[in-house]
Amino acid sequence: MKIPLKLLFLACMVCLPIEQIHAEFQAGAATSNITPHLGTALDGTISINGPVVAIYDELHARSLVLDDGETRLALVVCDNTMIDRSILDRAKQLIFEQCGLPTNRILISATHTHAAPRVTPGLHTNPLNDAYETFLVRRIADAVLQSIGNLAPAKIGWTHFEKPEFVHNRRWFMKAGSHMGNPFGKSGDKVKMNARGDGLVKPAGPVDPEVFVLSVQHLDGRPLALVANYGTHYVGGYEKGHVSADYFGHFSKRMEALLESDDFERNGPPFVAMMSNGTSGDVRATNLRETNQMAAWEQMKVVAESIAEDVMQAYPTIKYQADVSLAMEETELSLGVRKPTADQIVWARKVWEDYEKSPNQKFGGSSNPVVYARETLALADYPDEKAIVLQAIRIGDLAIVASPCETFAETGLAIKQRSPFKDTFTIELANGSDGYLPTIKQHSYGGYETWPARSSLLEVSAERKVRSSLLEMLEGLKGKP
Ligand SMILES: [Zn+2]
Repeated sequence: MKIPLKLLFLACMVCLPIEQIHAEFQAGAATSNITPHLGTALDGTISINGPVVAIYDELHARSLVLDDGETRLALVVCDNTMIDRSILDRAKQLIFEQCGLPTNRILISATHTHAAPRVTPGLHTNPLNDAYETFLVRRIADAVLQSIGNLAPAKIGWTHFEKPEFVHNRRWFMKAGSHMGNPFGKSGDKVKMNARGDGLVKPAGPVDPEVFVLSVQHLDGRPLALVANYGTHYVGGYEKGHVSADYFGHFSKRMEALLESDDFERNGPPFVAMMSNGTSGDVRATNLRETNQMAAWEQMKVVAESIAEDVMQAYPTIKYQADVSLAMEETELSLGVRKPTADQIVWARKVWEDYEKSPNQKFGGSSNPVVYARETLALADYPDEKAIVLQAIRIGDLAIVASPCETFAETGLAIKQRSPFKDTFTIELANGSDGYLPTIKQHSYGGYETWPARSSLLEVSAERKVRSSLLEMLEGLKGKP
């Protein structure tokens, strides 16, 4: 009897161990330069940083694509302060049109370097900023498309360690009678951001000292990519108008220098490292009780070098798997916007009218009433609800969750603790830029991160809803084969 070839093939497949019939695990990585032109505005809603006058170091989008034969997903980290959802949706759509990768398999985050554009449509009237938005969309897509072009058989592993030196909660309870700097002229705040001097009592929240290291190698052991994750806001020390990728960029360059080994013949695309931001909405790199100095310009390199050294110590201990399964979930969550009351609008109109009569007054700064008057009027025109994007990724028994907010350390810690996965890390300012995300308790303490503005606009219970949605998504991923 003649057995059809197809049946013979199927019979052989059945006999093979499962690892051998799995399509092989592949990875590809690439970078693209996303430095803005001189003259592009760096202003945010609160901080006024002027147009670009100098490039201290170049900005990049760094991309890693993973593929287990069934699921393909992309992870992109951009050297920007924050990027609006509409821009990232355009980039995802372009990627989908160019290569068919579904938009809900693409995670794009901003590092939160403060020496880079805040990419928010409608915030600037400068035509260079409009041009930057289009440029950024294309360059993010380029990084992902190149990563797909670089896909090669790979193995993946991870480790984590603690690095407490550069994580310090920046919200402080203050002694009674301290000046709290509330721009609305109210005195209900219990905590103050970046407070310094004699009035400090204790930090208002925890920090997450974990550095997470996800490493991808070629099958022969050649480093292919490395994704690190750490929860500190940024290092800073910039001069106005200067562009820099901050410690995030210096760390990536340092890792590339350390791991681009001469032991291997250079016969493929370069190794790519990236540092994603964890949950650092309330965390700074220096302890203001020990130093009341702001970071010096070179401090970003000191931080980058120190973390890179520790990563190099941990790197040889990483155990790799070449047969790992991937899964990804995306959900949209609709949250209320903290719209101003009628009284607040009356206050804002008065402050803004007075400002317009004497425009020589200072504009900008995190406790300037004029800024918050403008923000109050901006929020008055907002829709009542905002839909935000949440994502969760599973790589074997590792999970990654992504929120589009400046998420507080305690939220990241709670997700790590309750995650059904052995290892979990969190990426903030991903897939959008929806402001600070204080917990209900932190809202009751007040302070900069809670003051209503486009930098803090979601409903008071938003954190609870985001946290439980992300945990639900993790449970869903855990249940998947
Ligand atoms: Zn911030």
